[in-house]
Amino acid sequence: MGRYTGPVCKLCRREKEKLFLKGSKCTSSKCPVEKRAYVPGQHGQNRRSRLSDYGIQLREKQKIKRIYGLFEKQFRNYYKKADKMAGITGNNLILLLESRLDNIVYRLGFAPSRNAARQLISHRHFNVNGRIVNIPSYLTSEGDLIEVRDKAKKMEVIHASMRRVKTENATPWLELDKANMLGRVIEIPEREQIPLEVKEHLVIELYSK
Ligand code: SF4
Repeated sequence: MGRYTGPVCKLCRREKEKLFLKGSKCTSSKCPVEKRAYVPGQHGQNRRSRLSDYGIQLREKQKIKRIYGLFEKQFRNYYKKADKMAGITGNNLILLLESRLDNIVYRLGFAPSRNAARQLISHRHFNVNGRIVNIPSYLTSEGDLIEVRDKAKKMEVIHASMRRVKTENATPWLELDKANMLGRVIEIPEREQIPLEVKEHLVIELYSK
């Protein structure tokens, strides 16, 4: 599956908010959203369009897709899966996205961004339950053990990323053993536990039209 290779900061500027796609730059003063909080392009500063309901739903969908680094088809497939599950479709959608291995690797702090996590996983730097998994979209489950492989334990990109993790229980549903560079999914989180400020119900409204 391909991935977006254009300038990622432009994606945040398009949504006029930080989507945290670039690791440490996102929390520094170099973040372009801090300097230019308007949409990119020649007329970005003058654009004052009022969005229709459809426009609002569309922007929210784009935002979530961009946060998780997905293309339309992949994202819609998650929606279809979420819709078939019991419970609230919006919650299911976020839980599915959150259980992707690239997201878990990012949340555990082994990678500075989901994008970087995807690359590290594709390069076979992680084991799940003792076996190499090189599929970033692999859906983790409760109890799964995610481990940096021995060969990757010296990688500076992983160490630099782990230094930003202040506490080992920063993400309540994940358990991190920093010294041994491994983590575990201890439970499936409740939607409220996930630090993600998006309105997923707008995506559901959009797709159910
Ligand atoms: Fe987005 Fe991070 Fe770039 Fe800021 S630095 S615009 S948060 S990707």
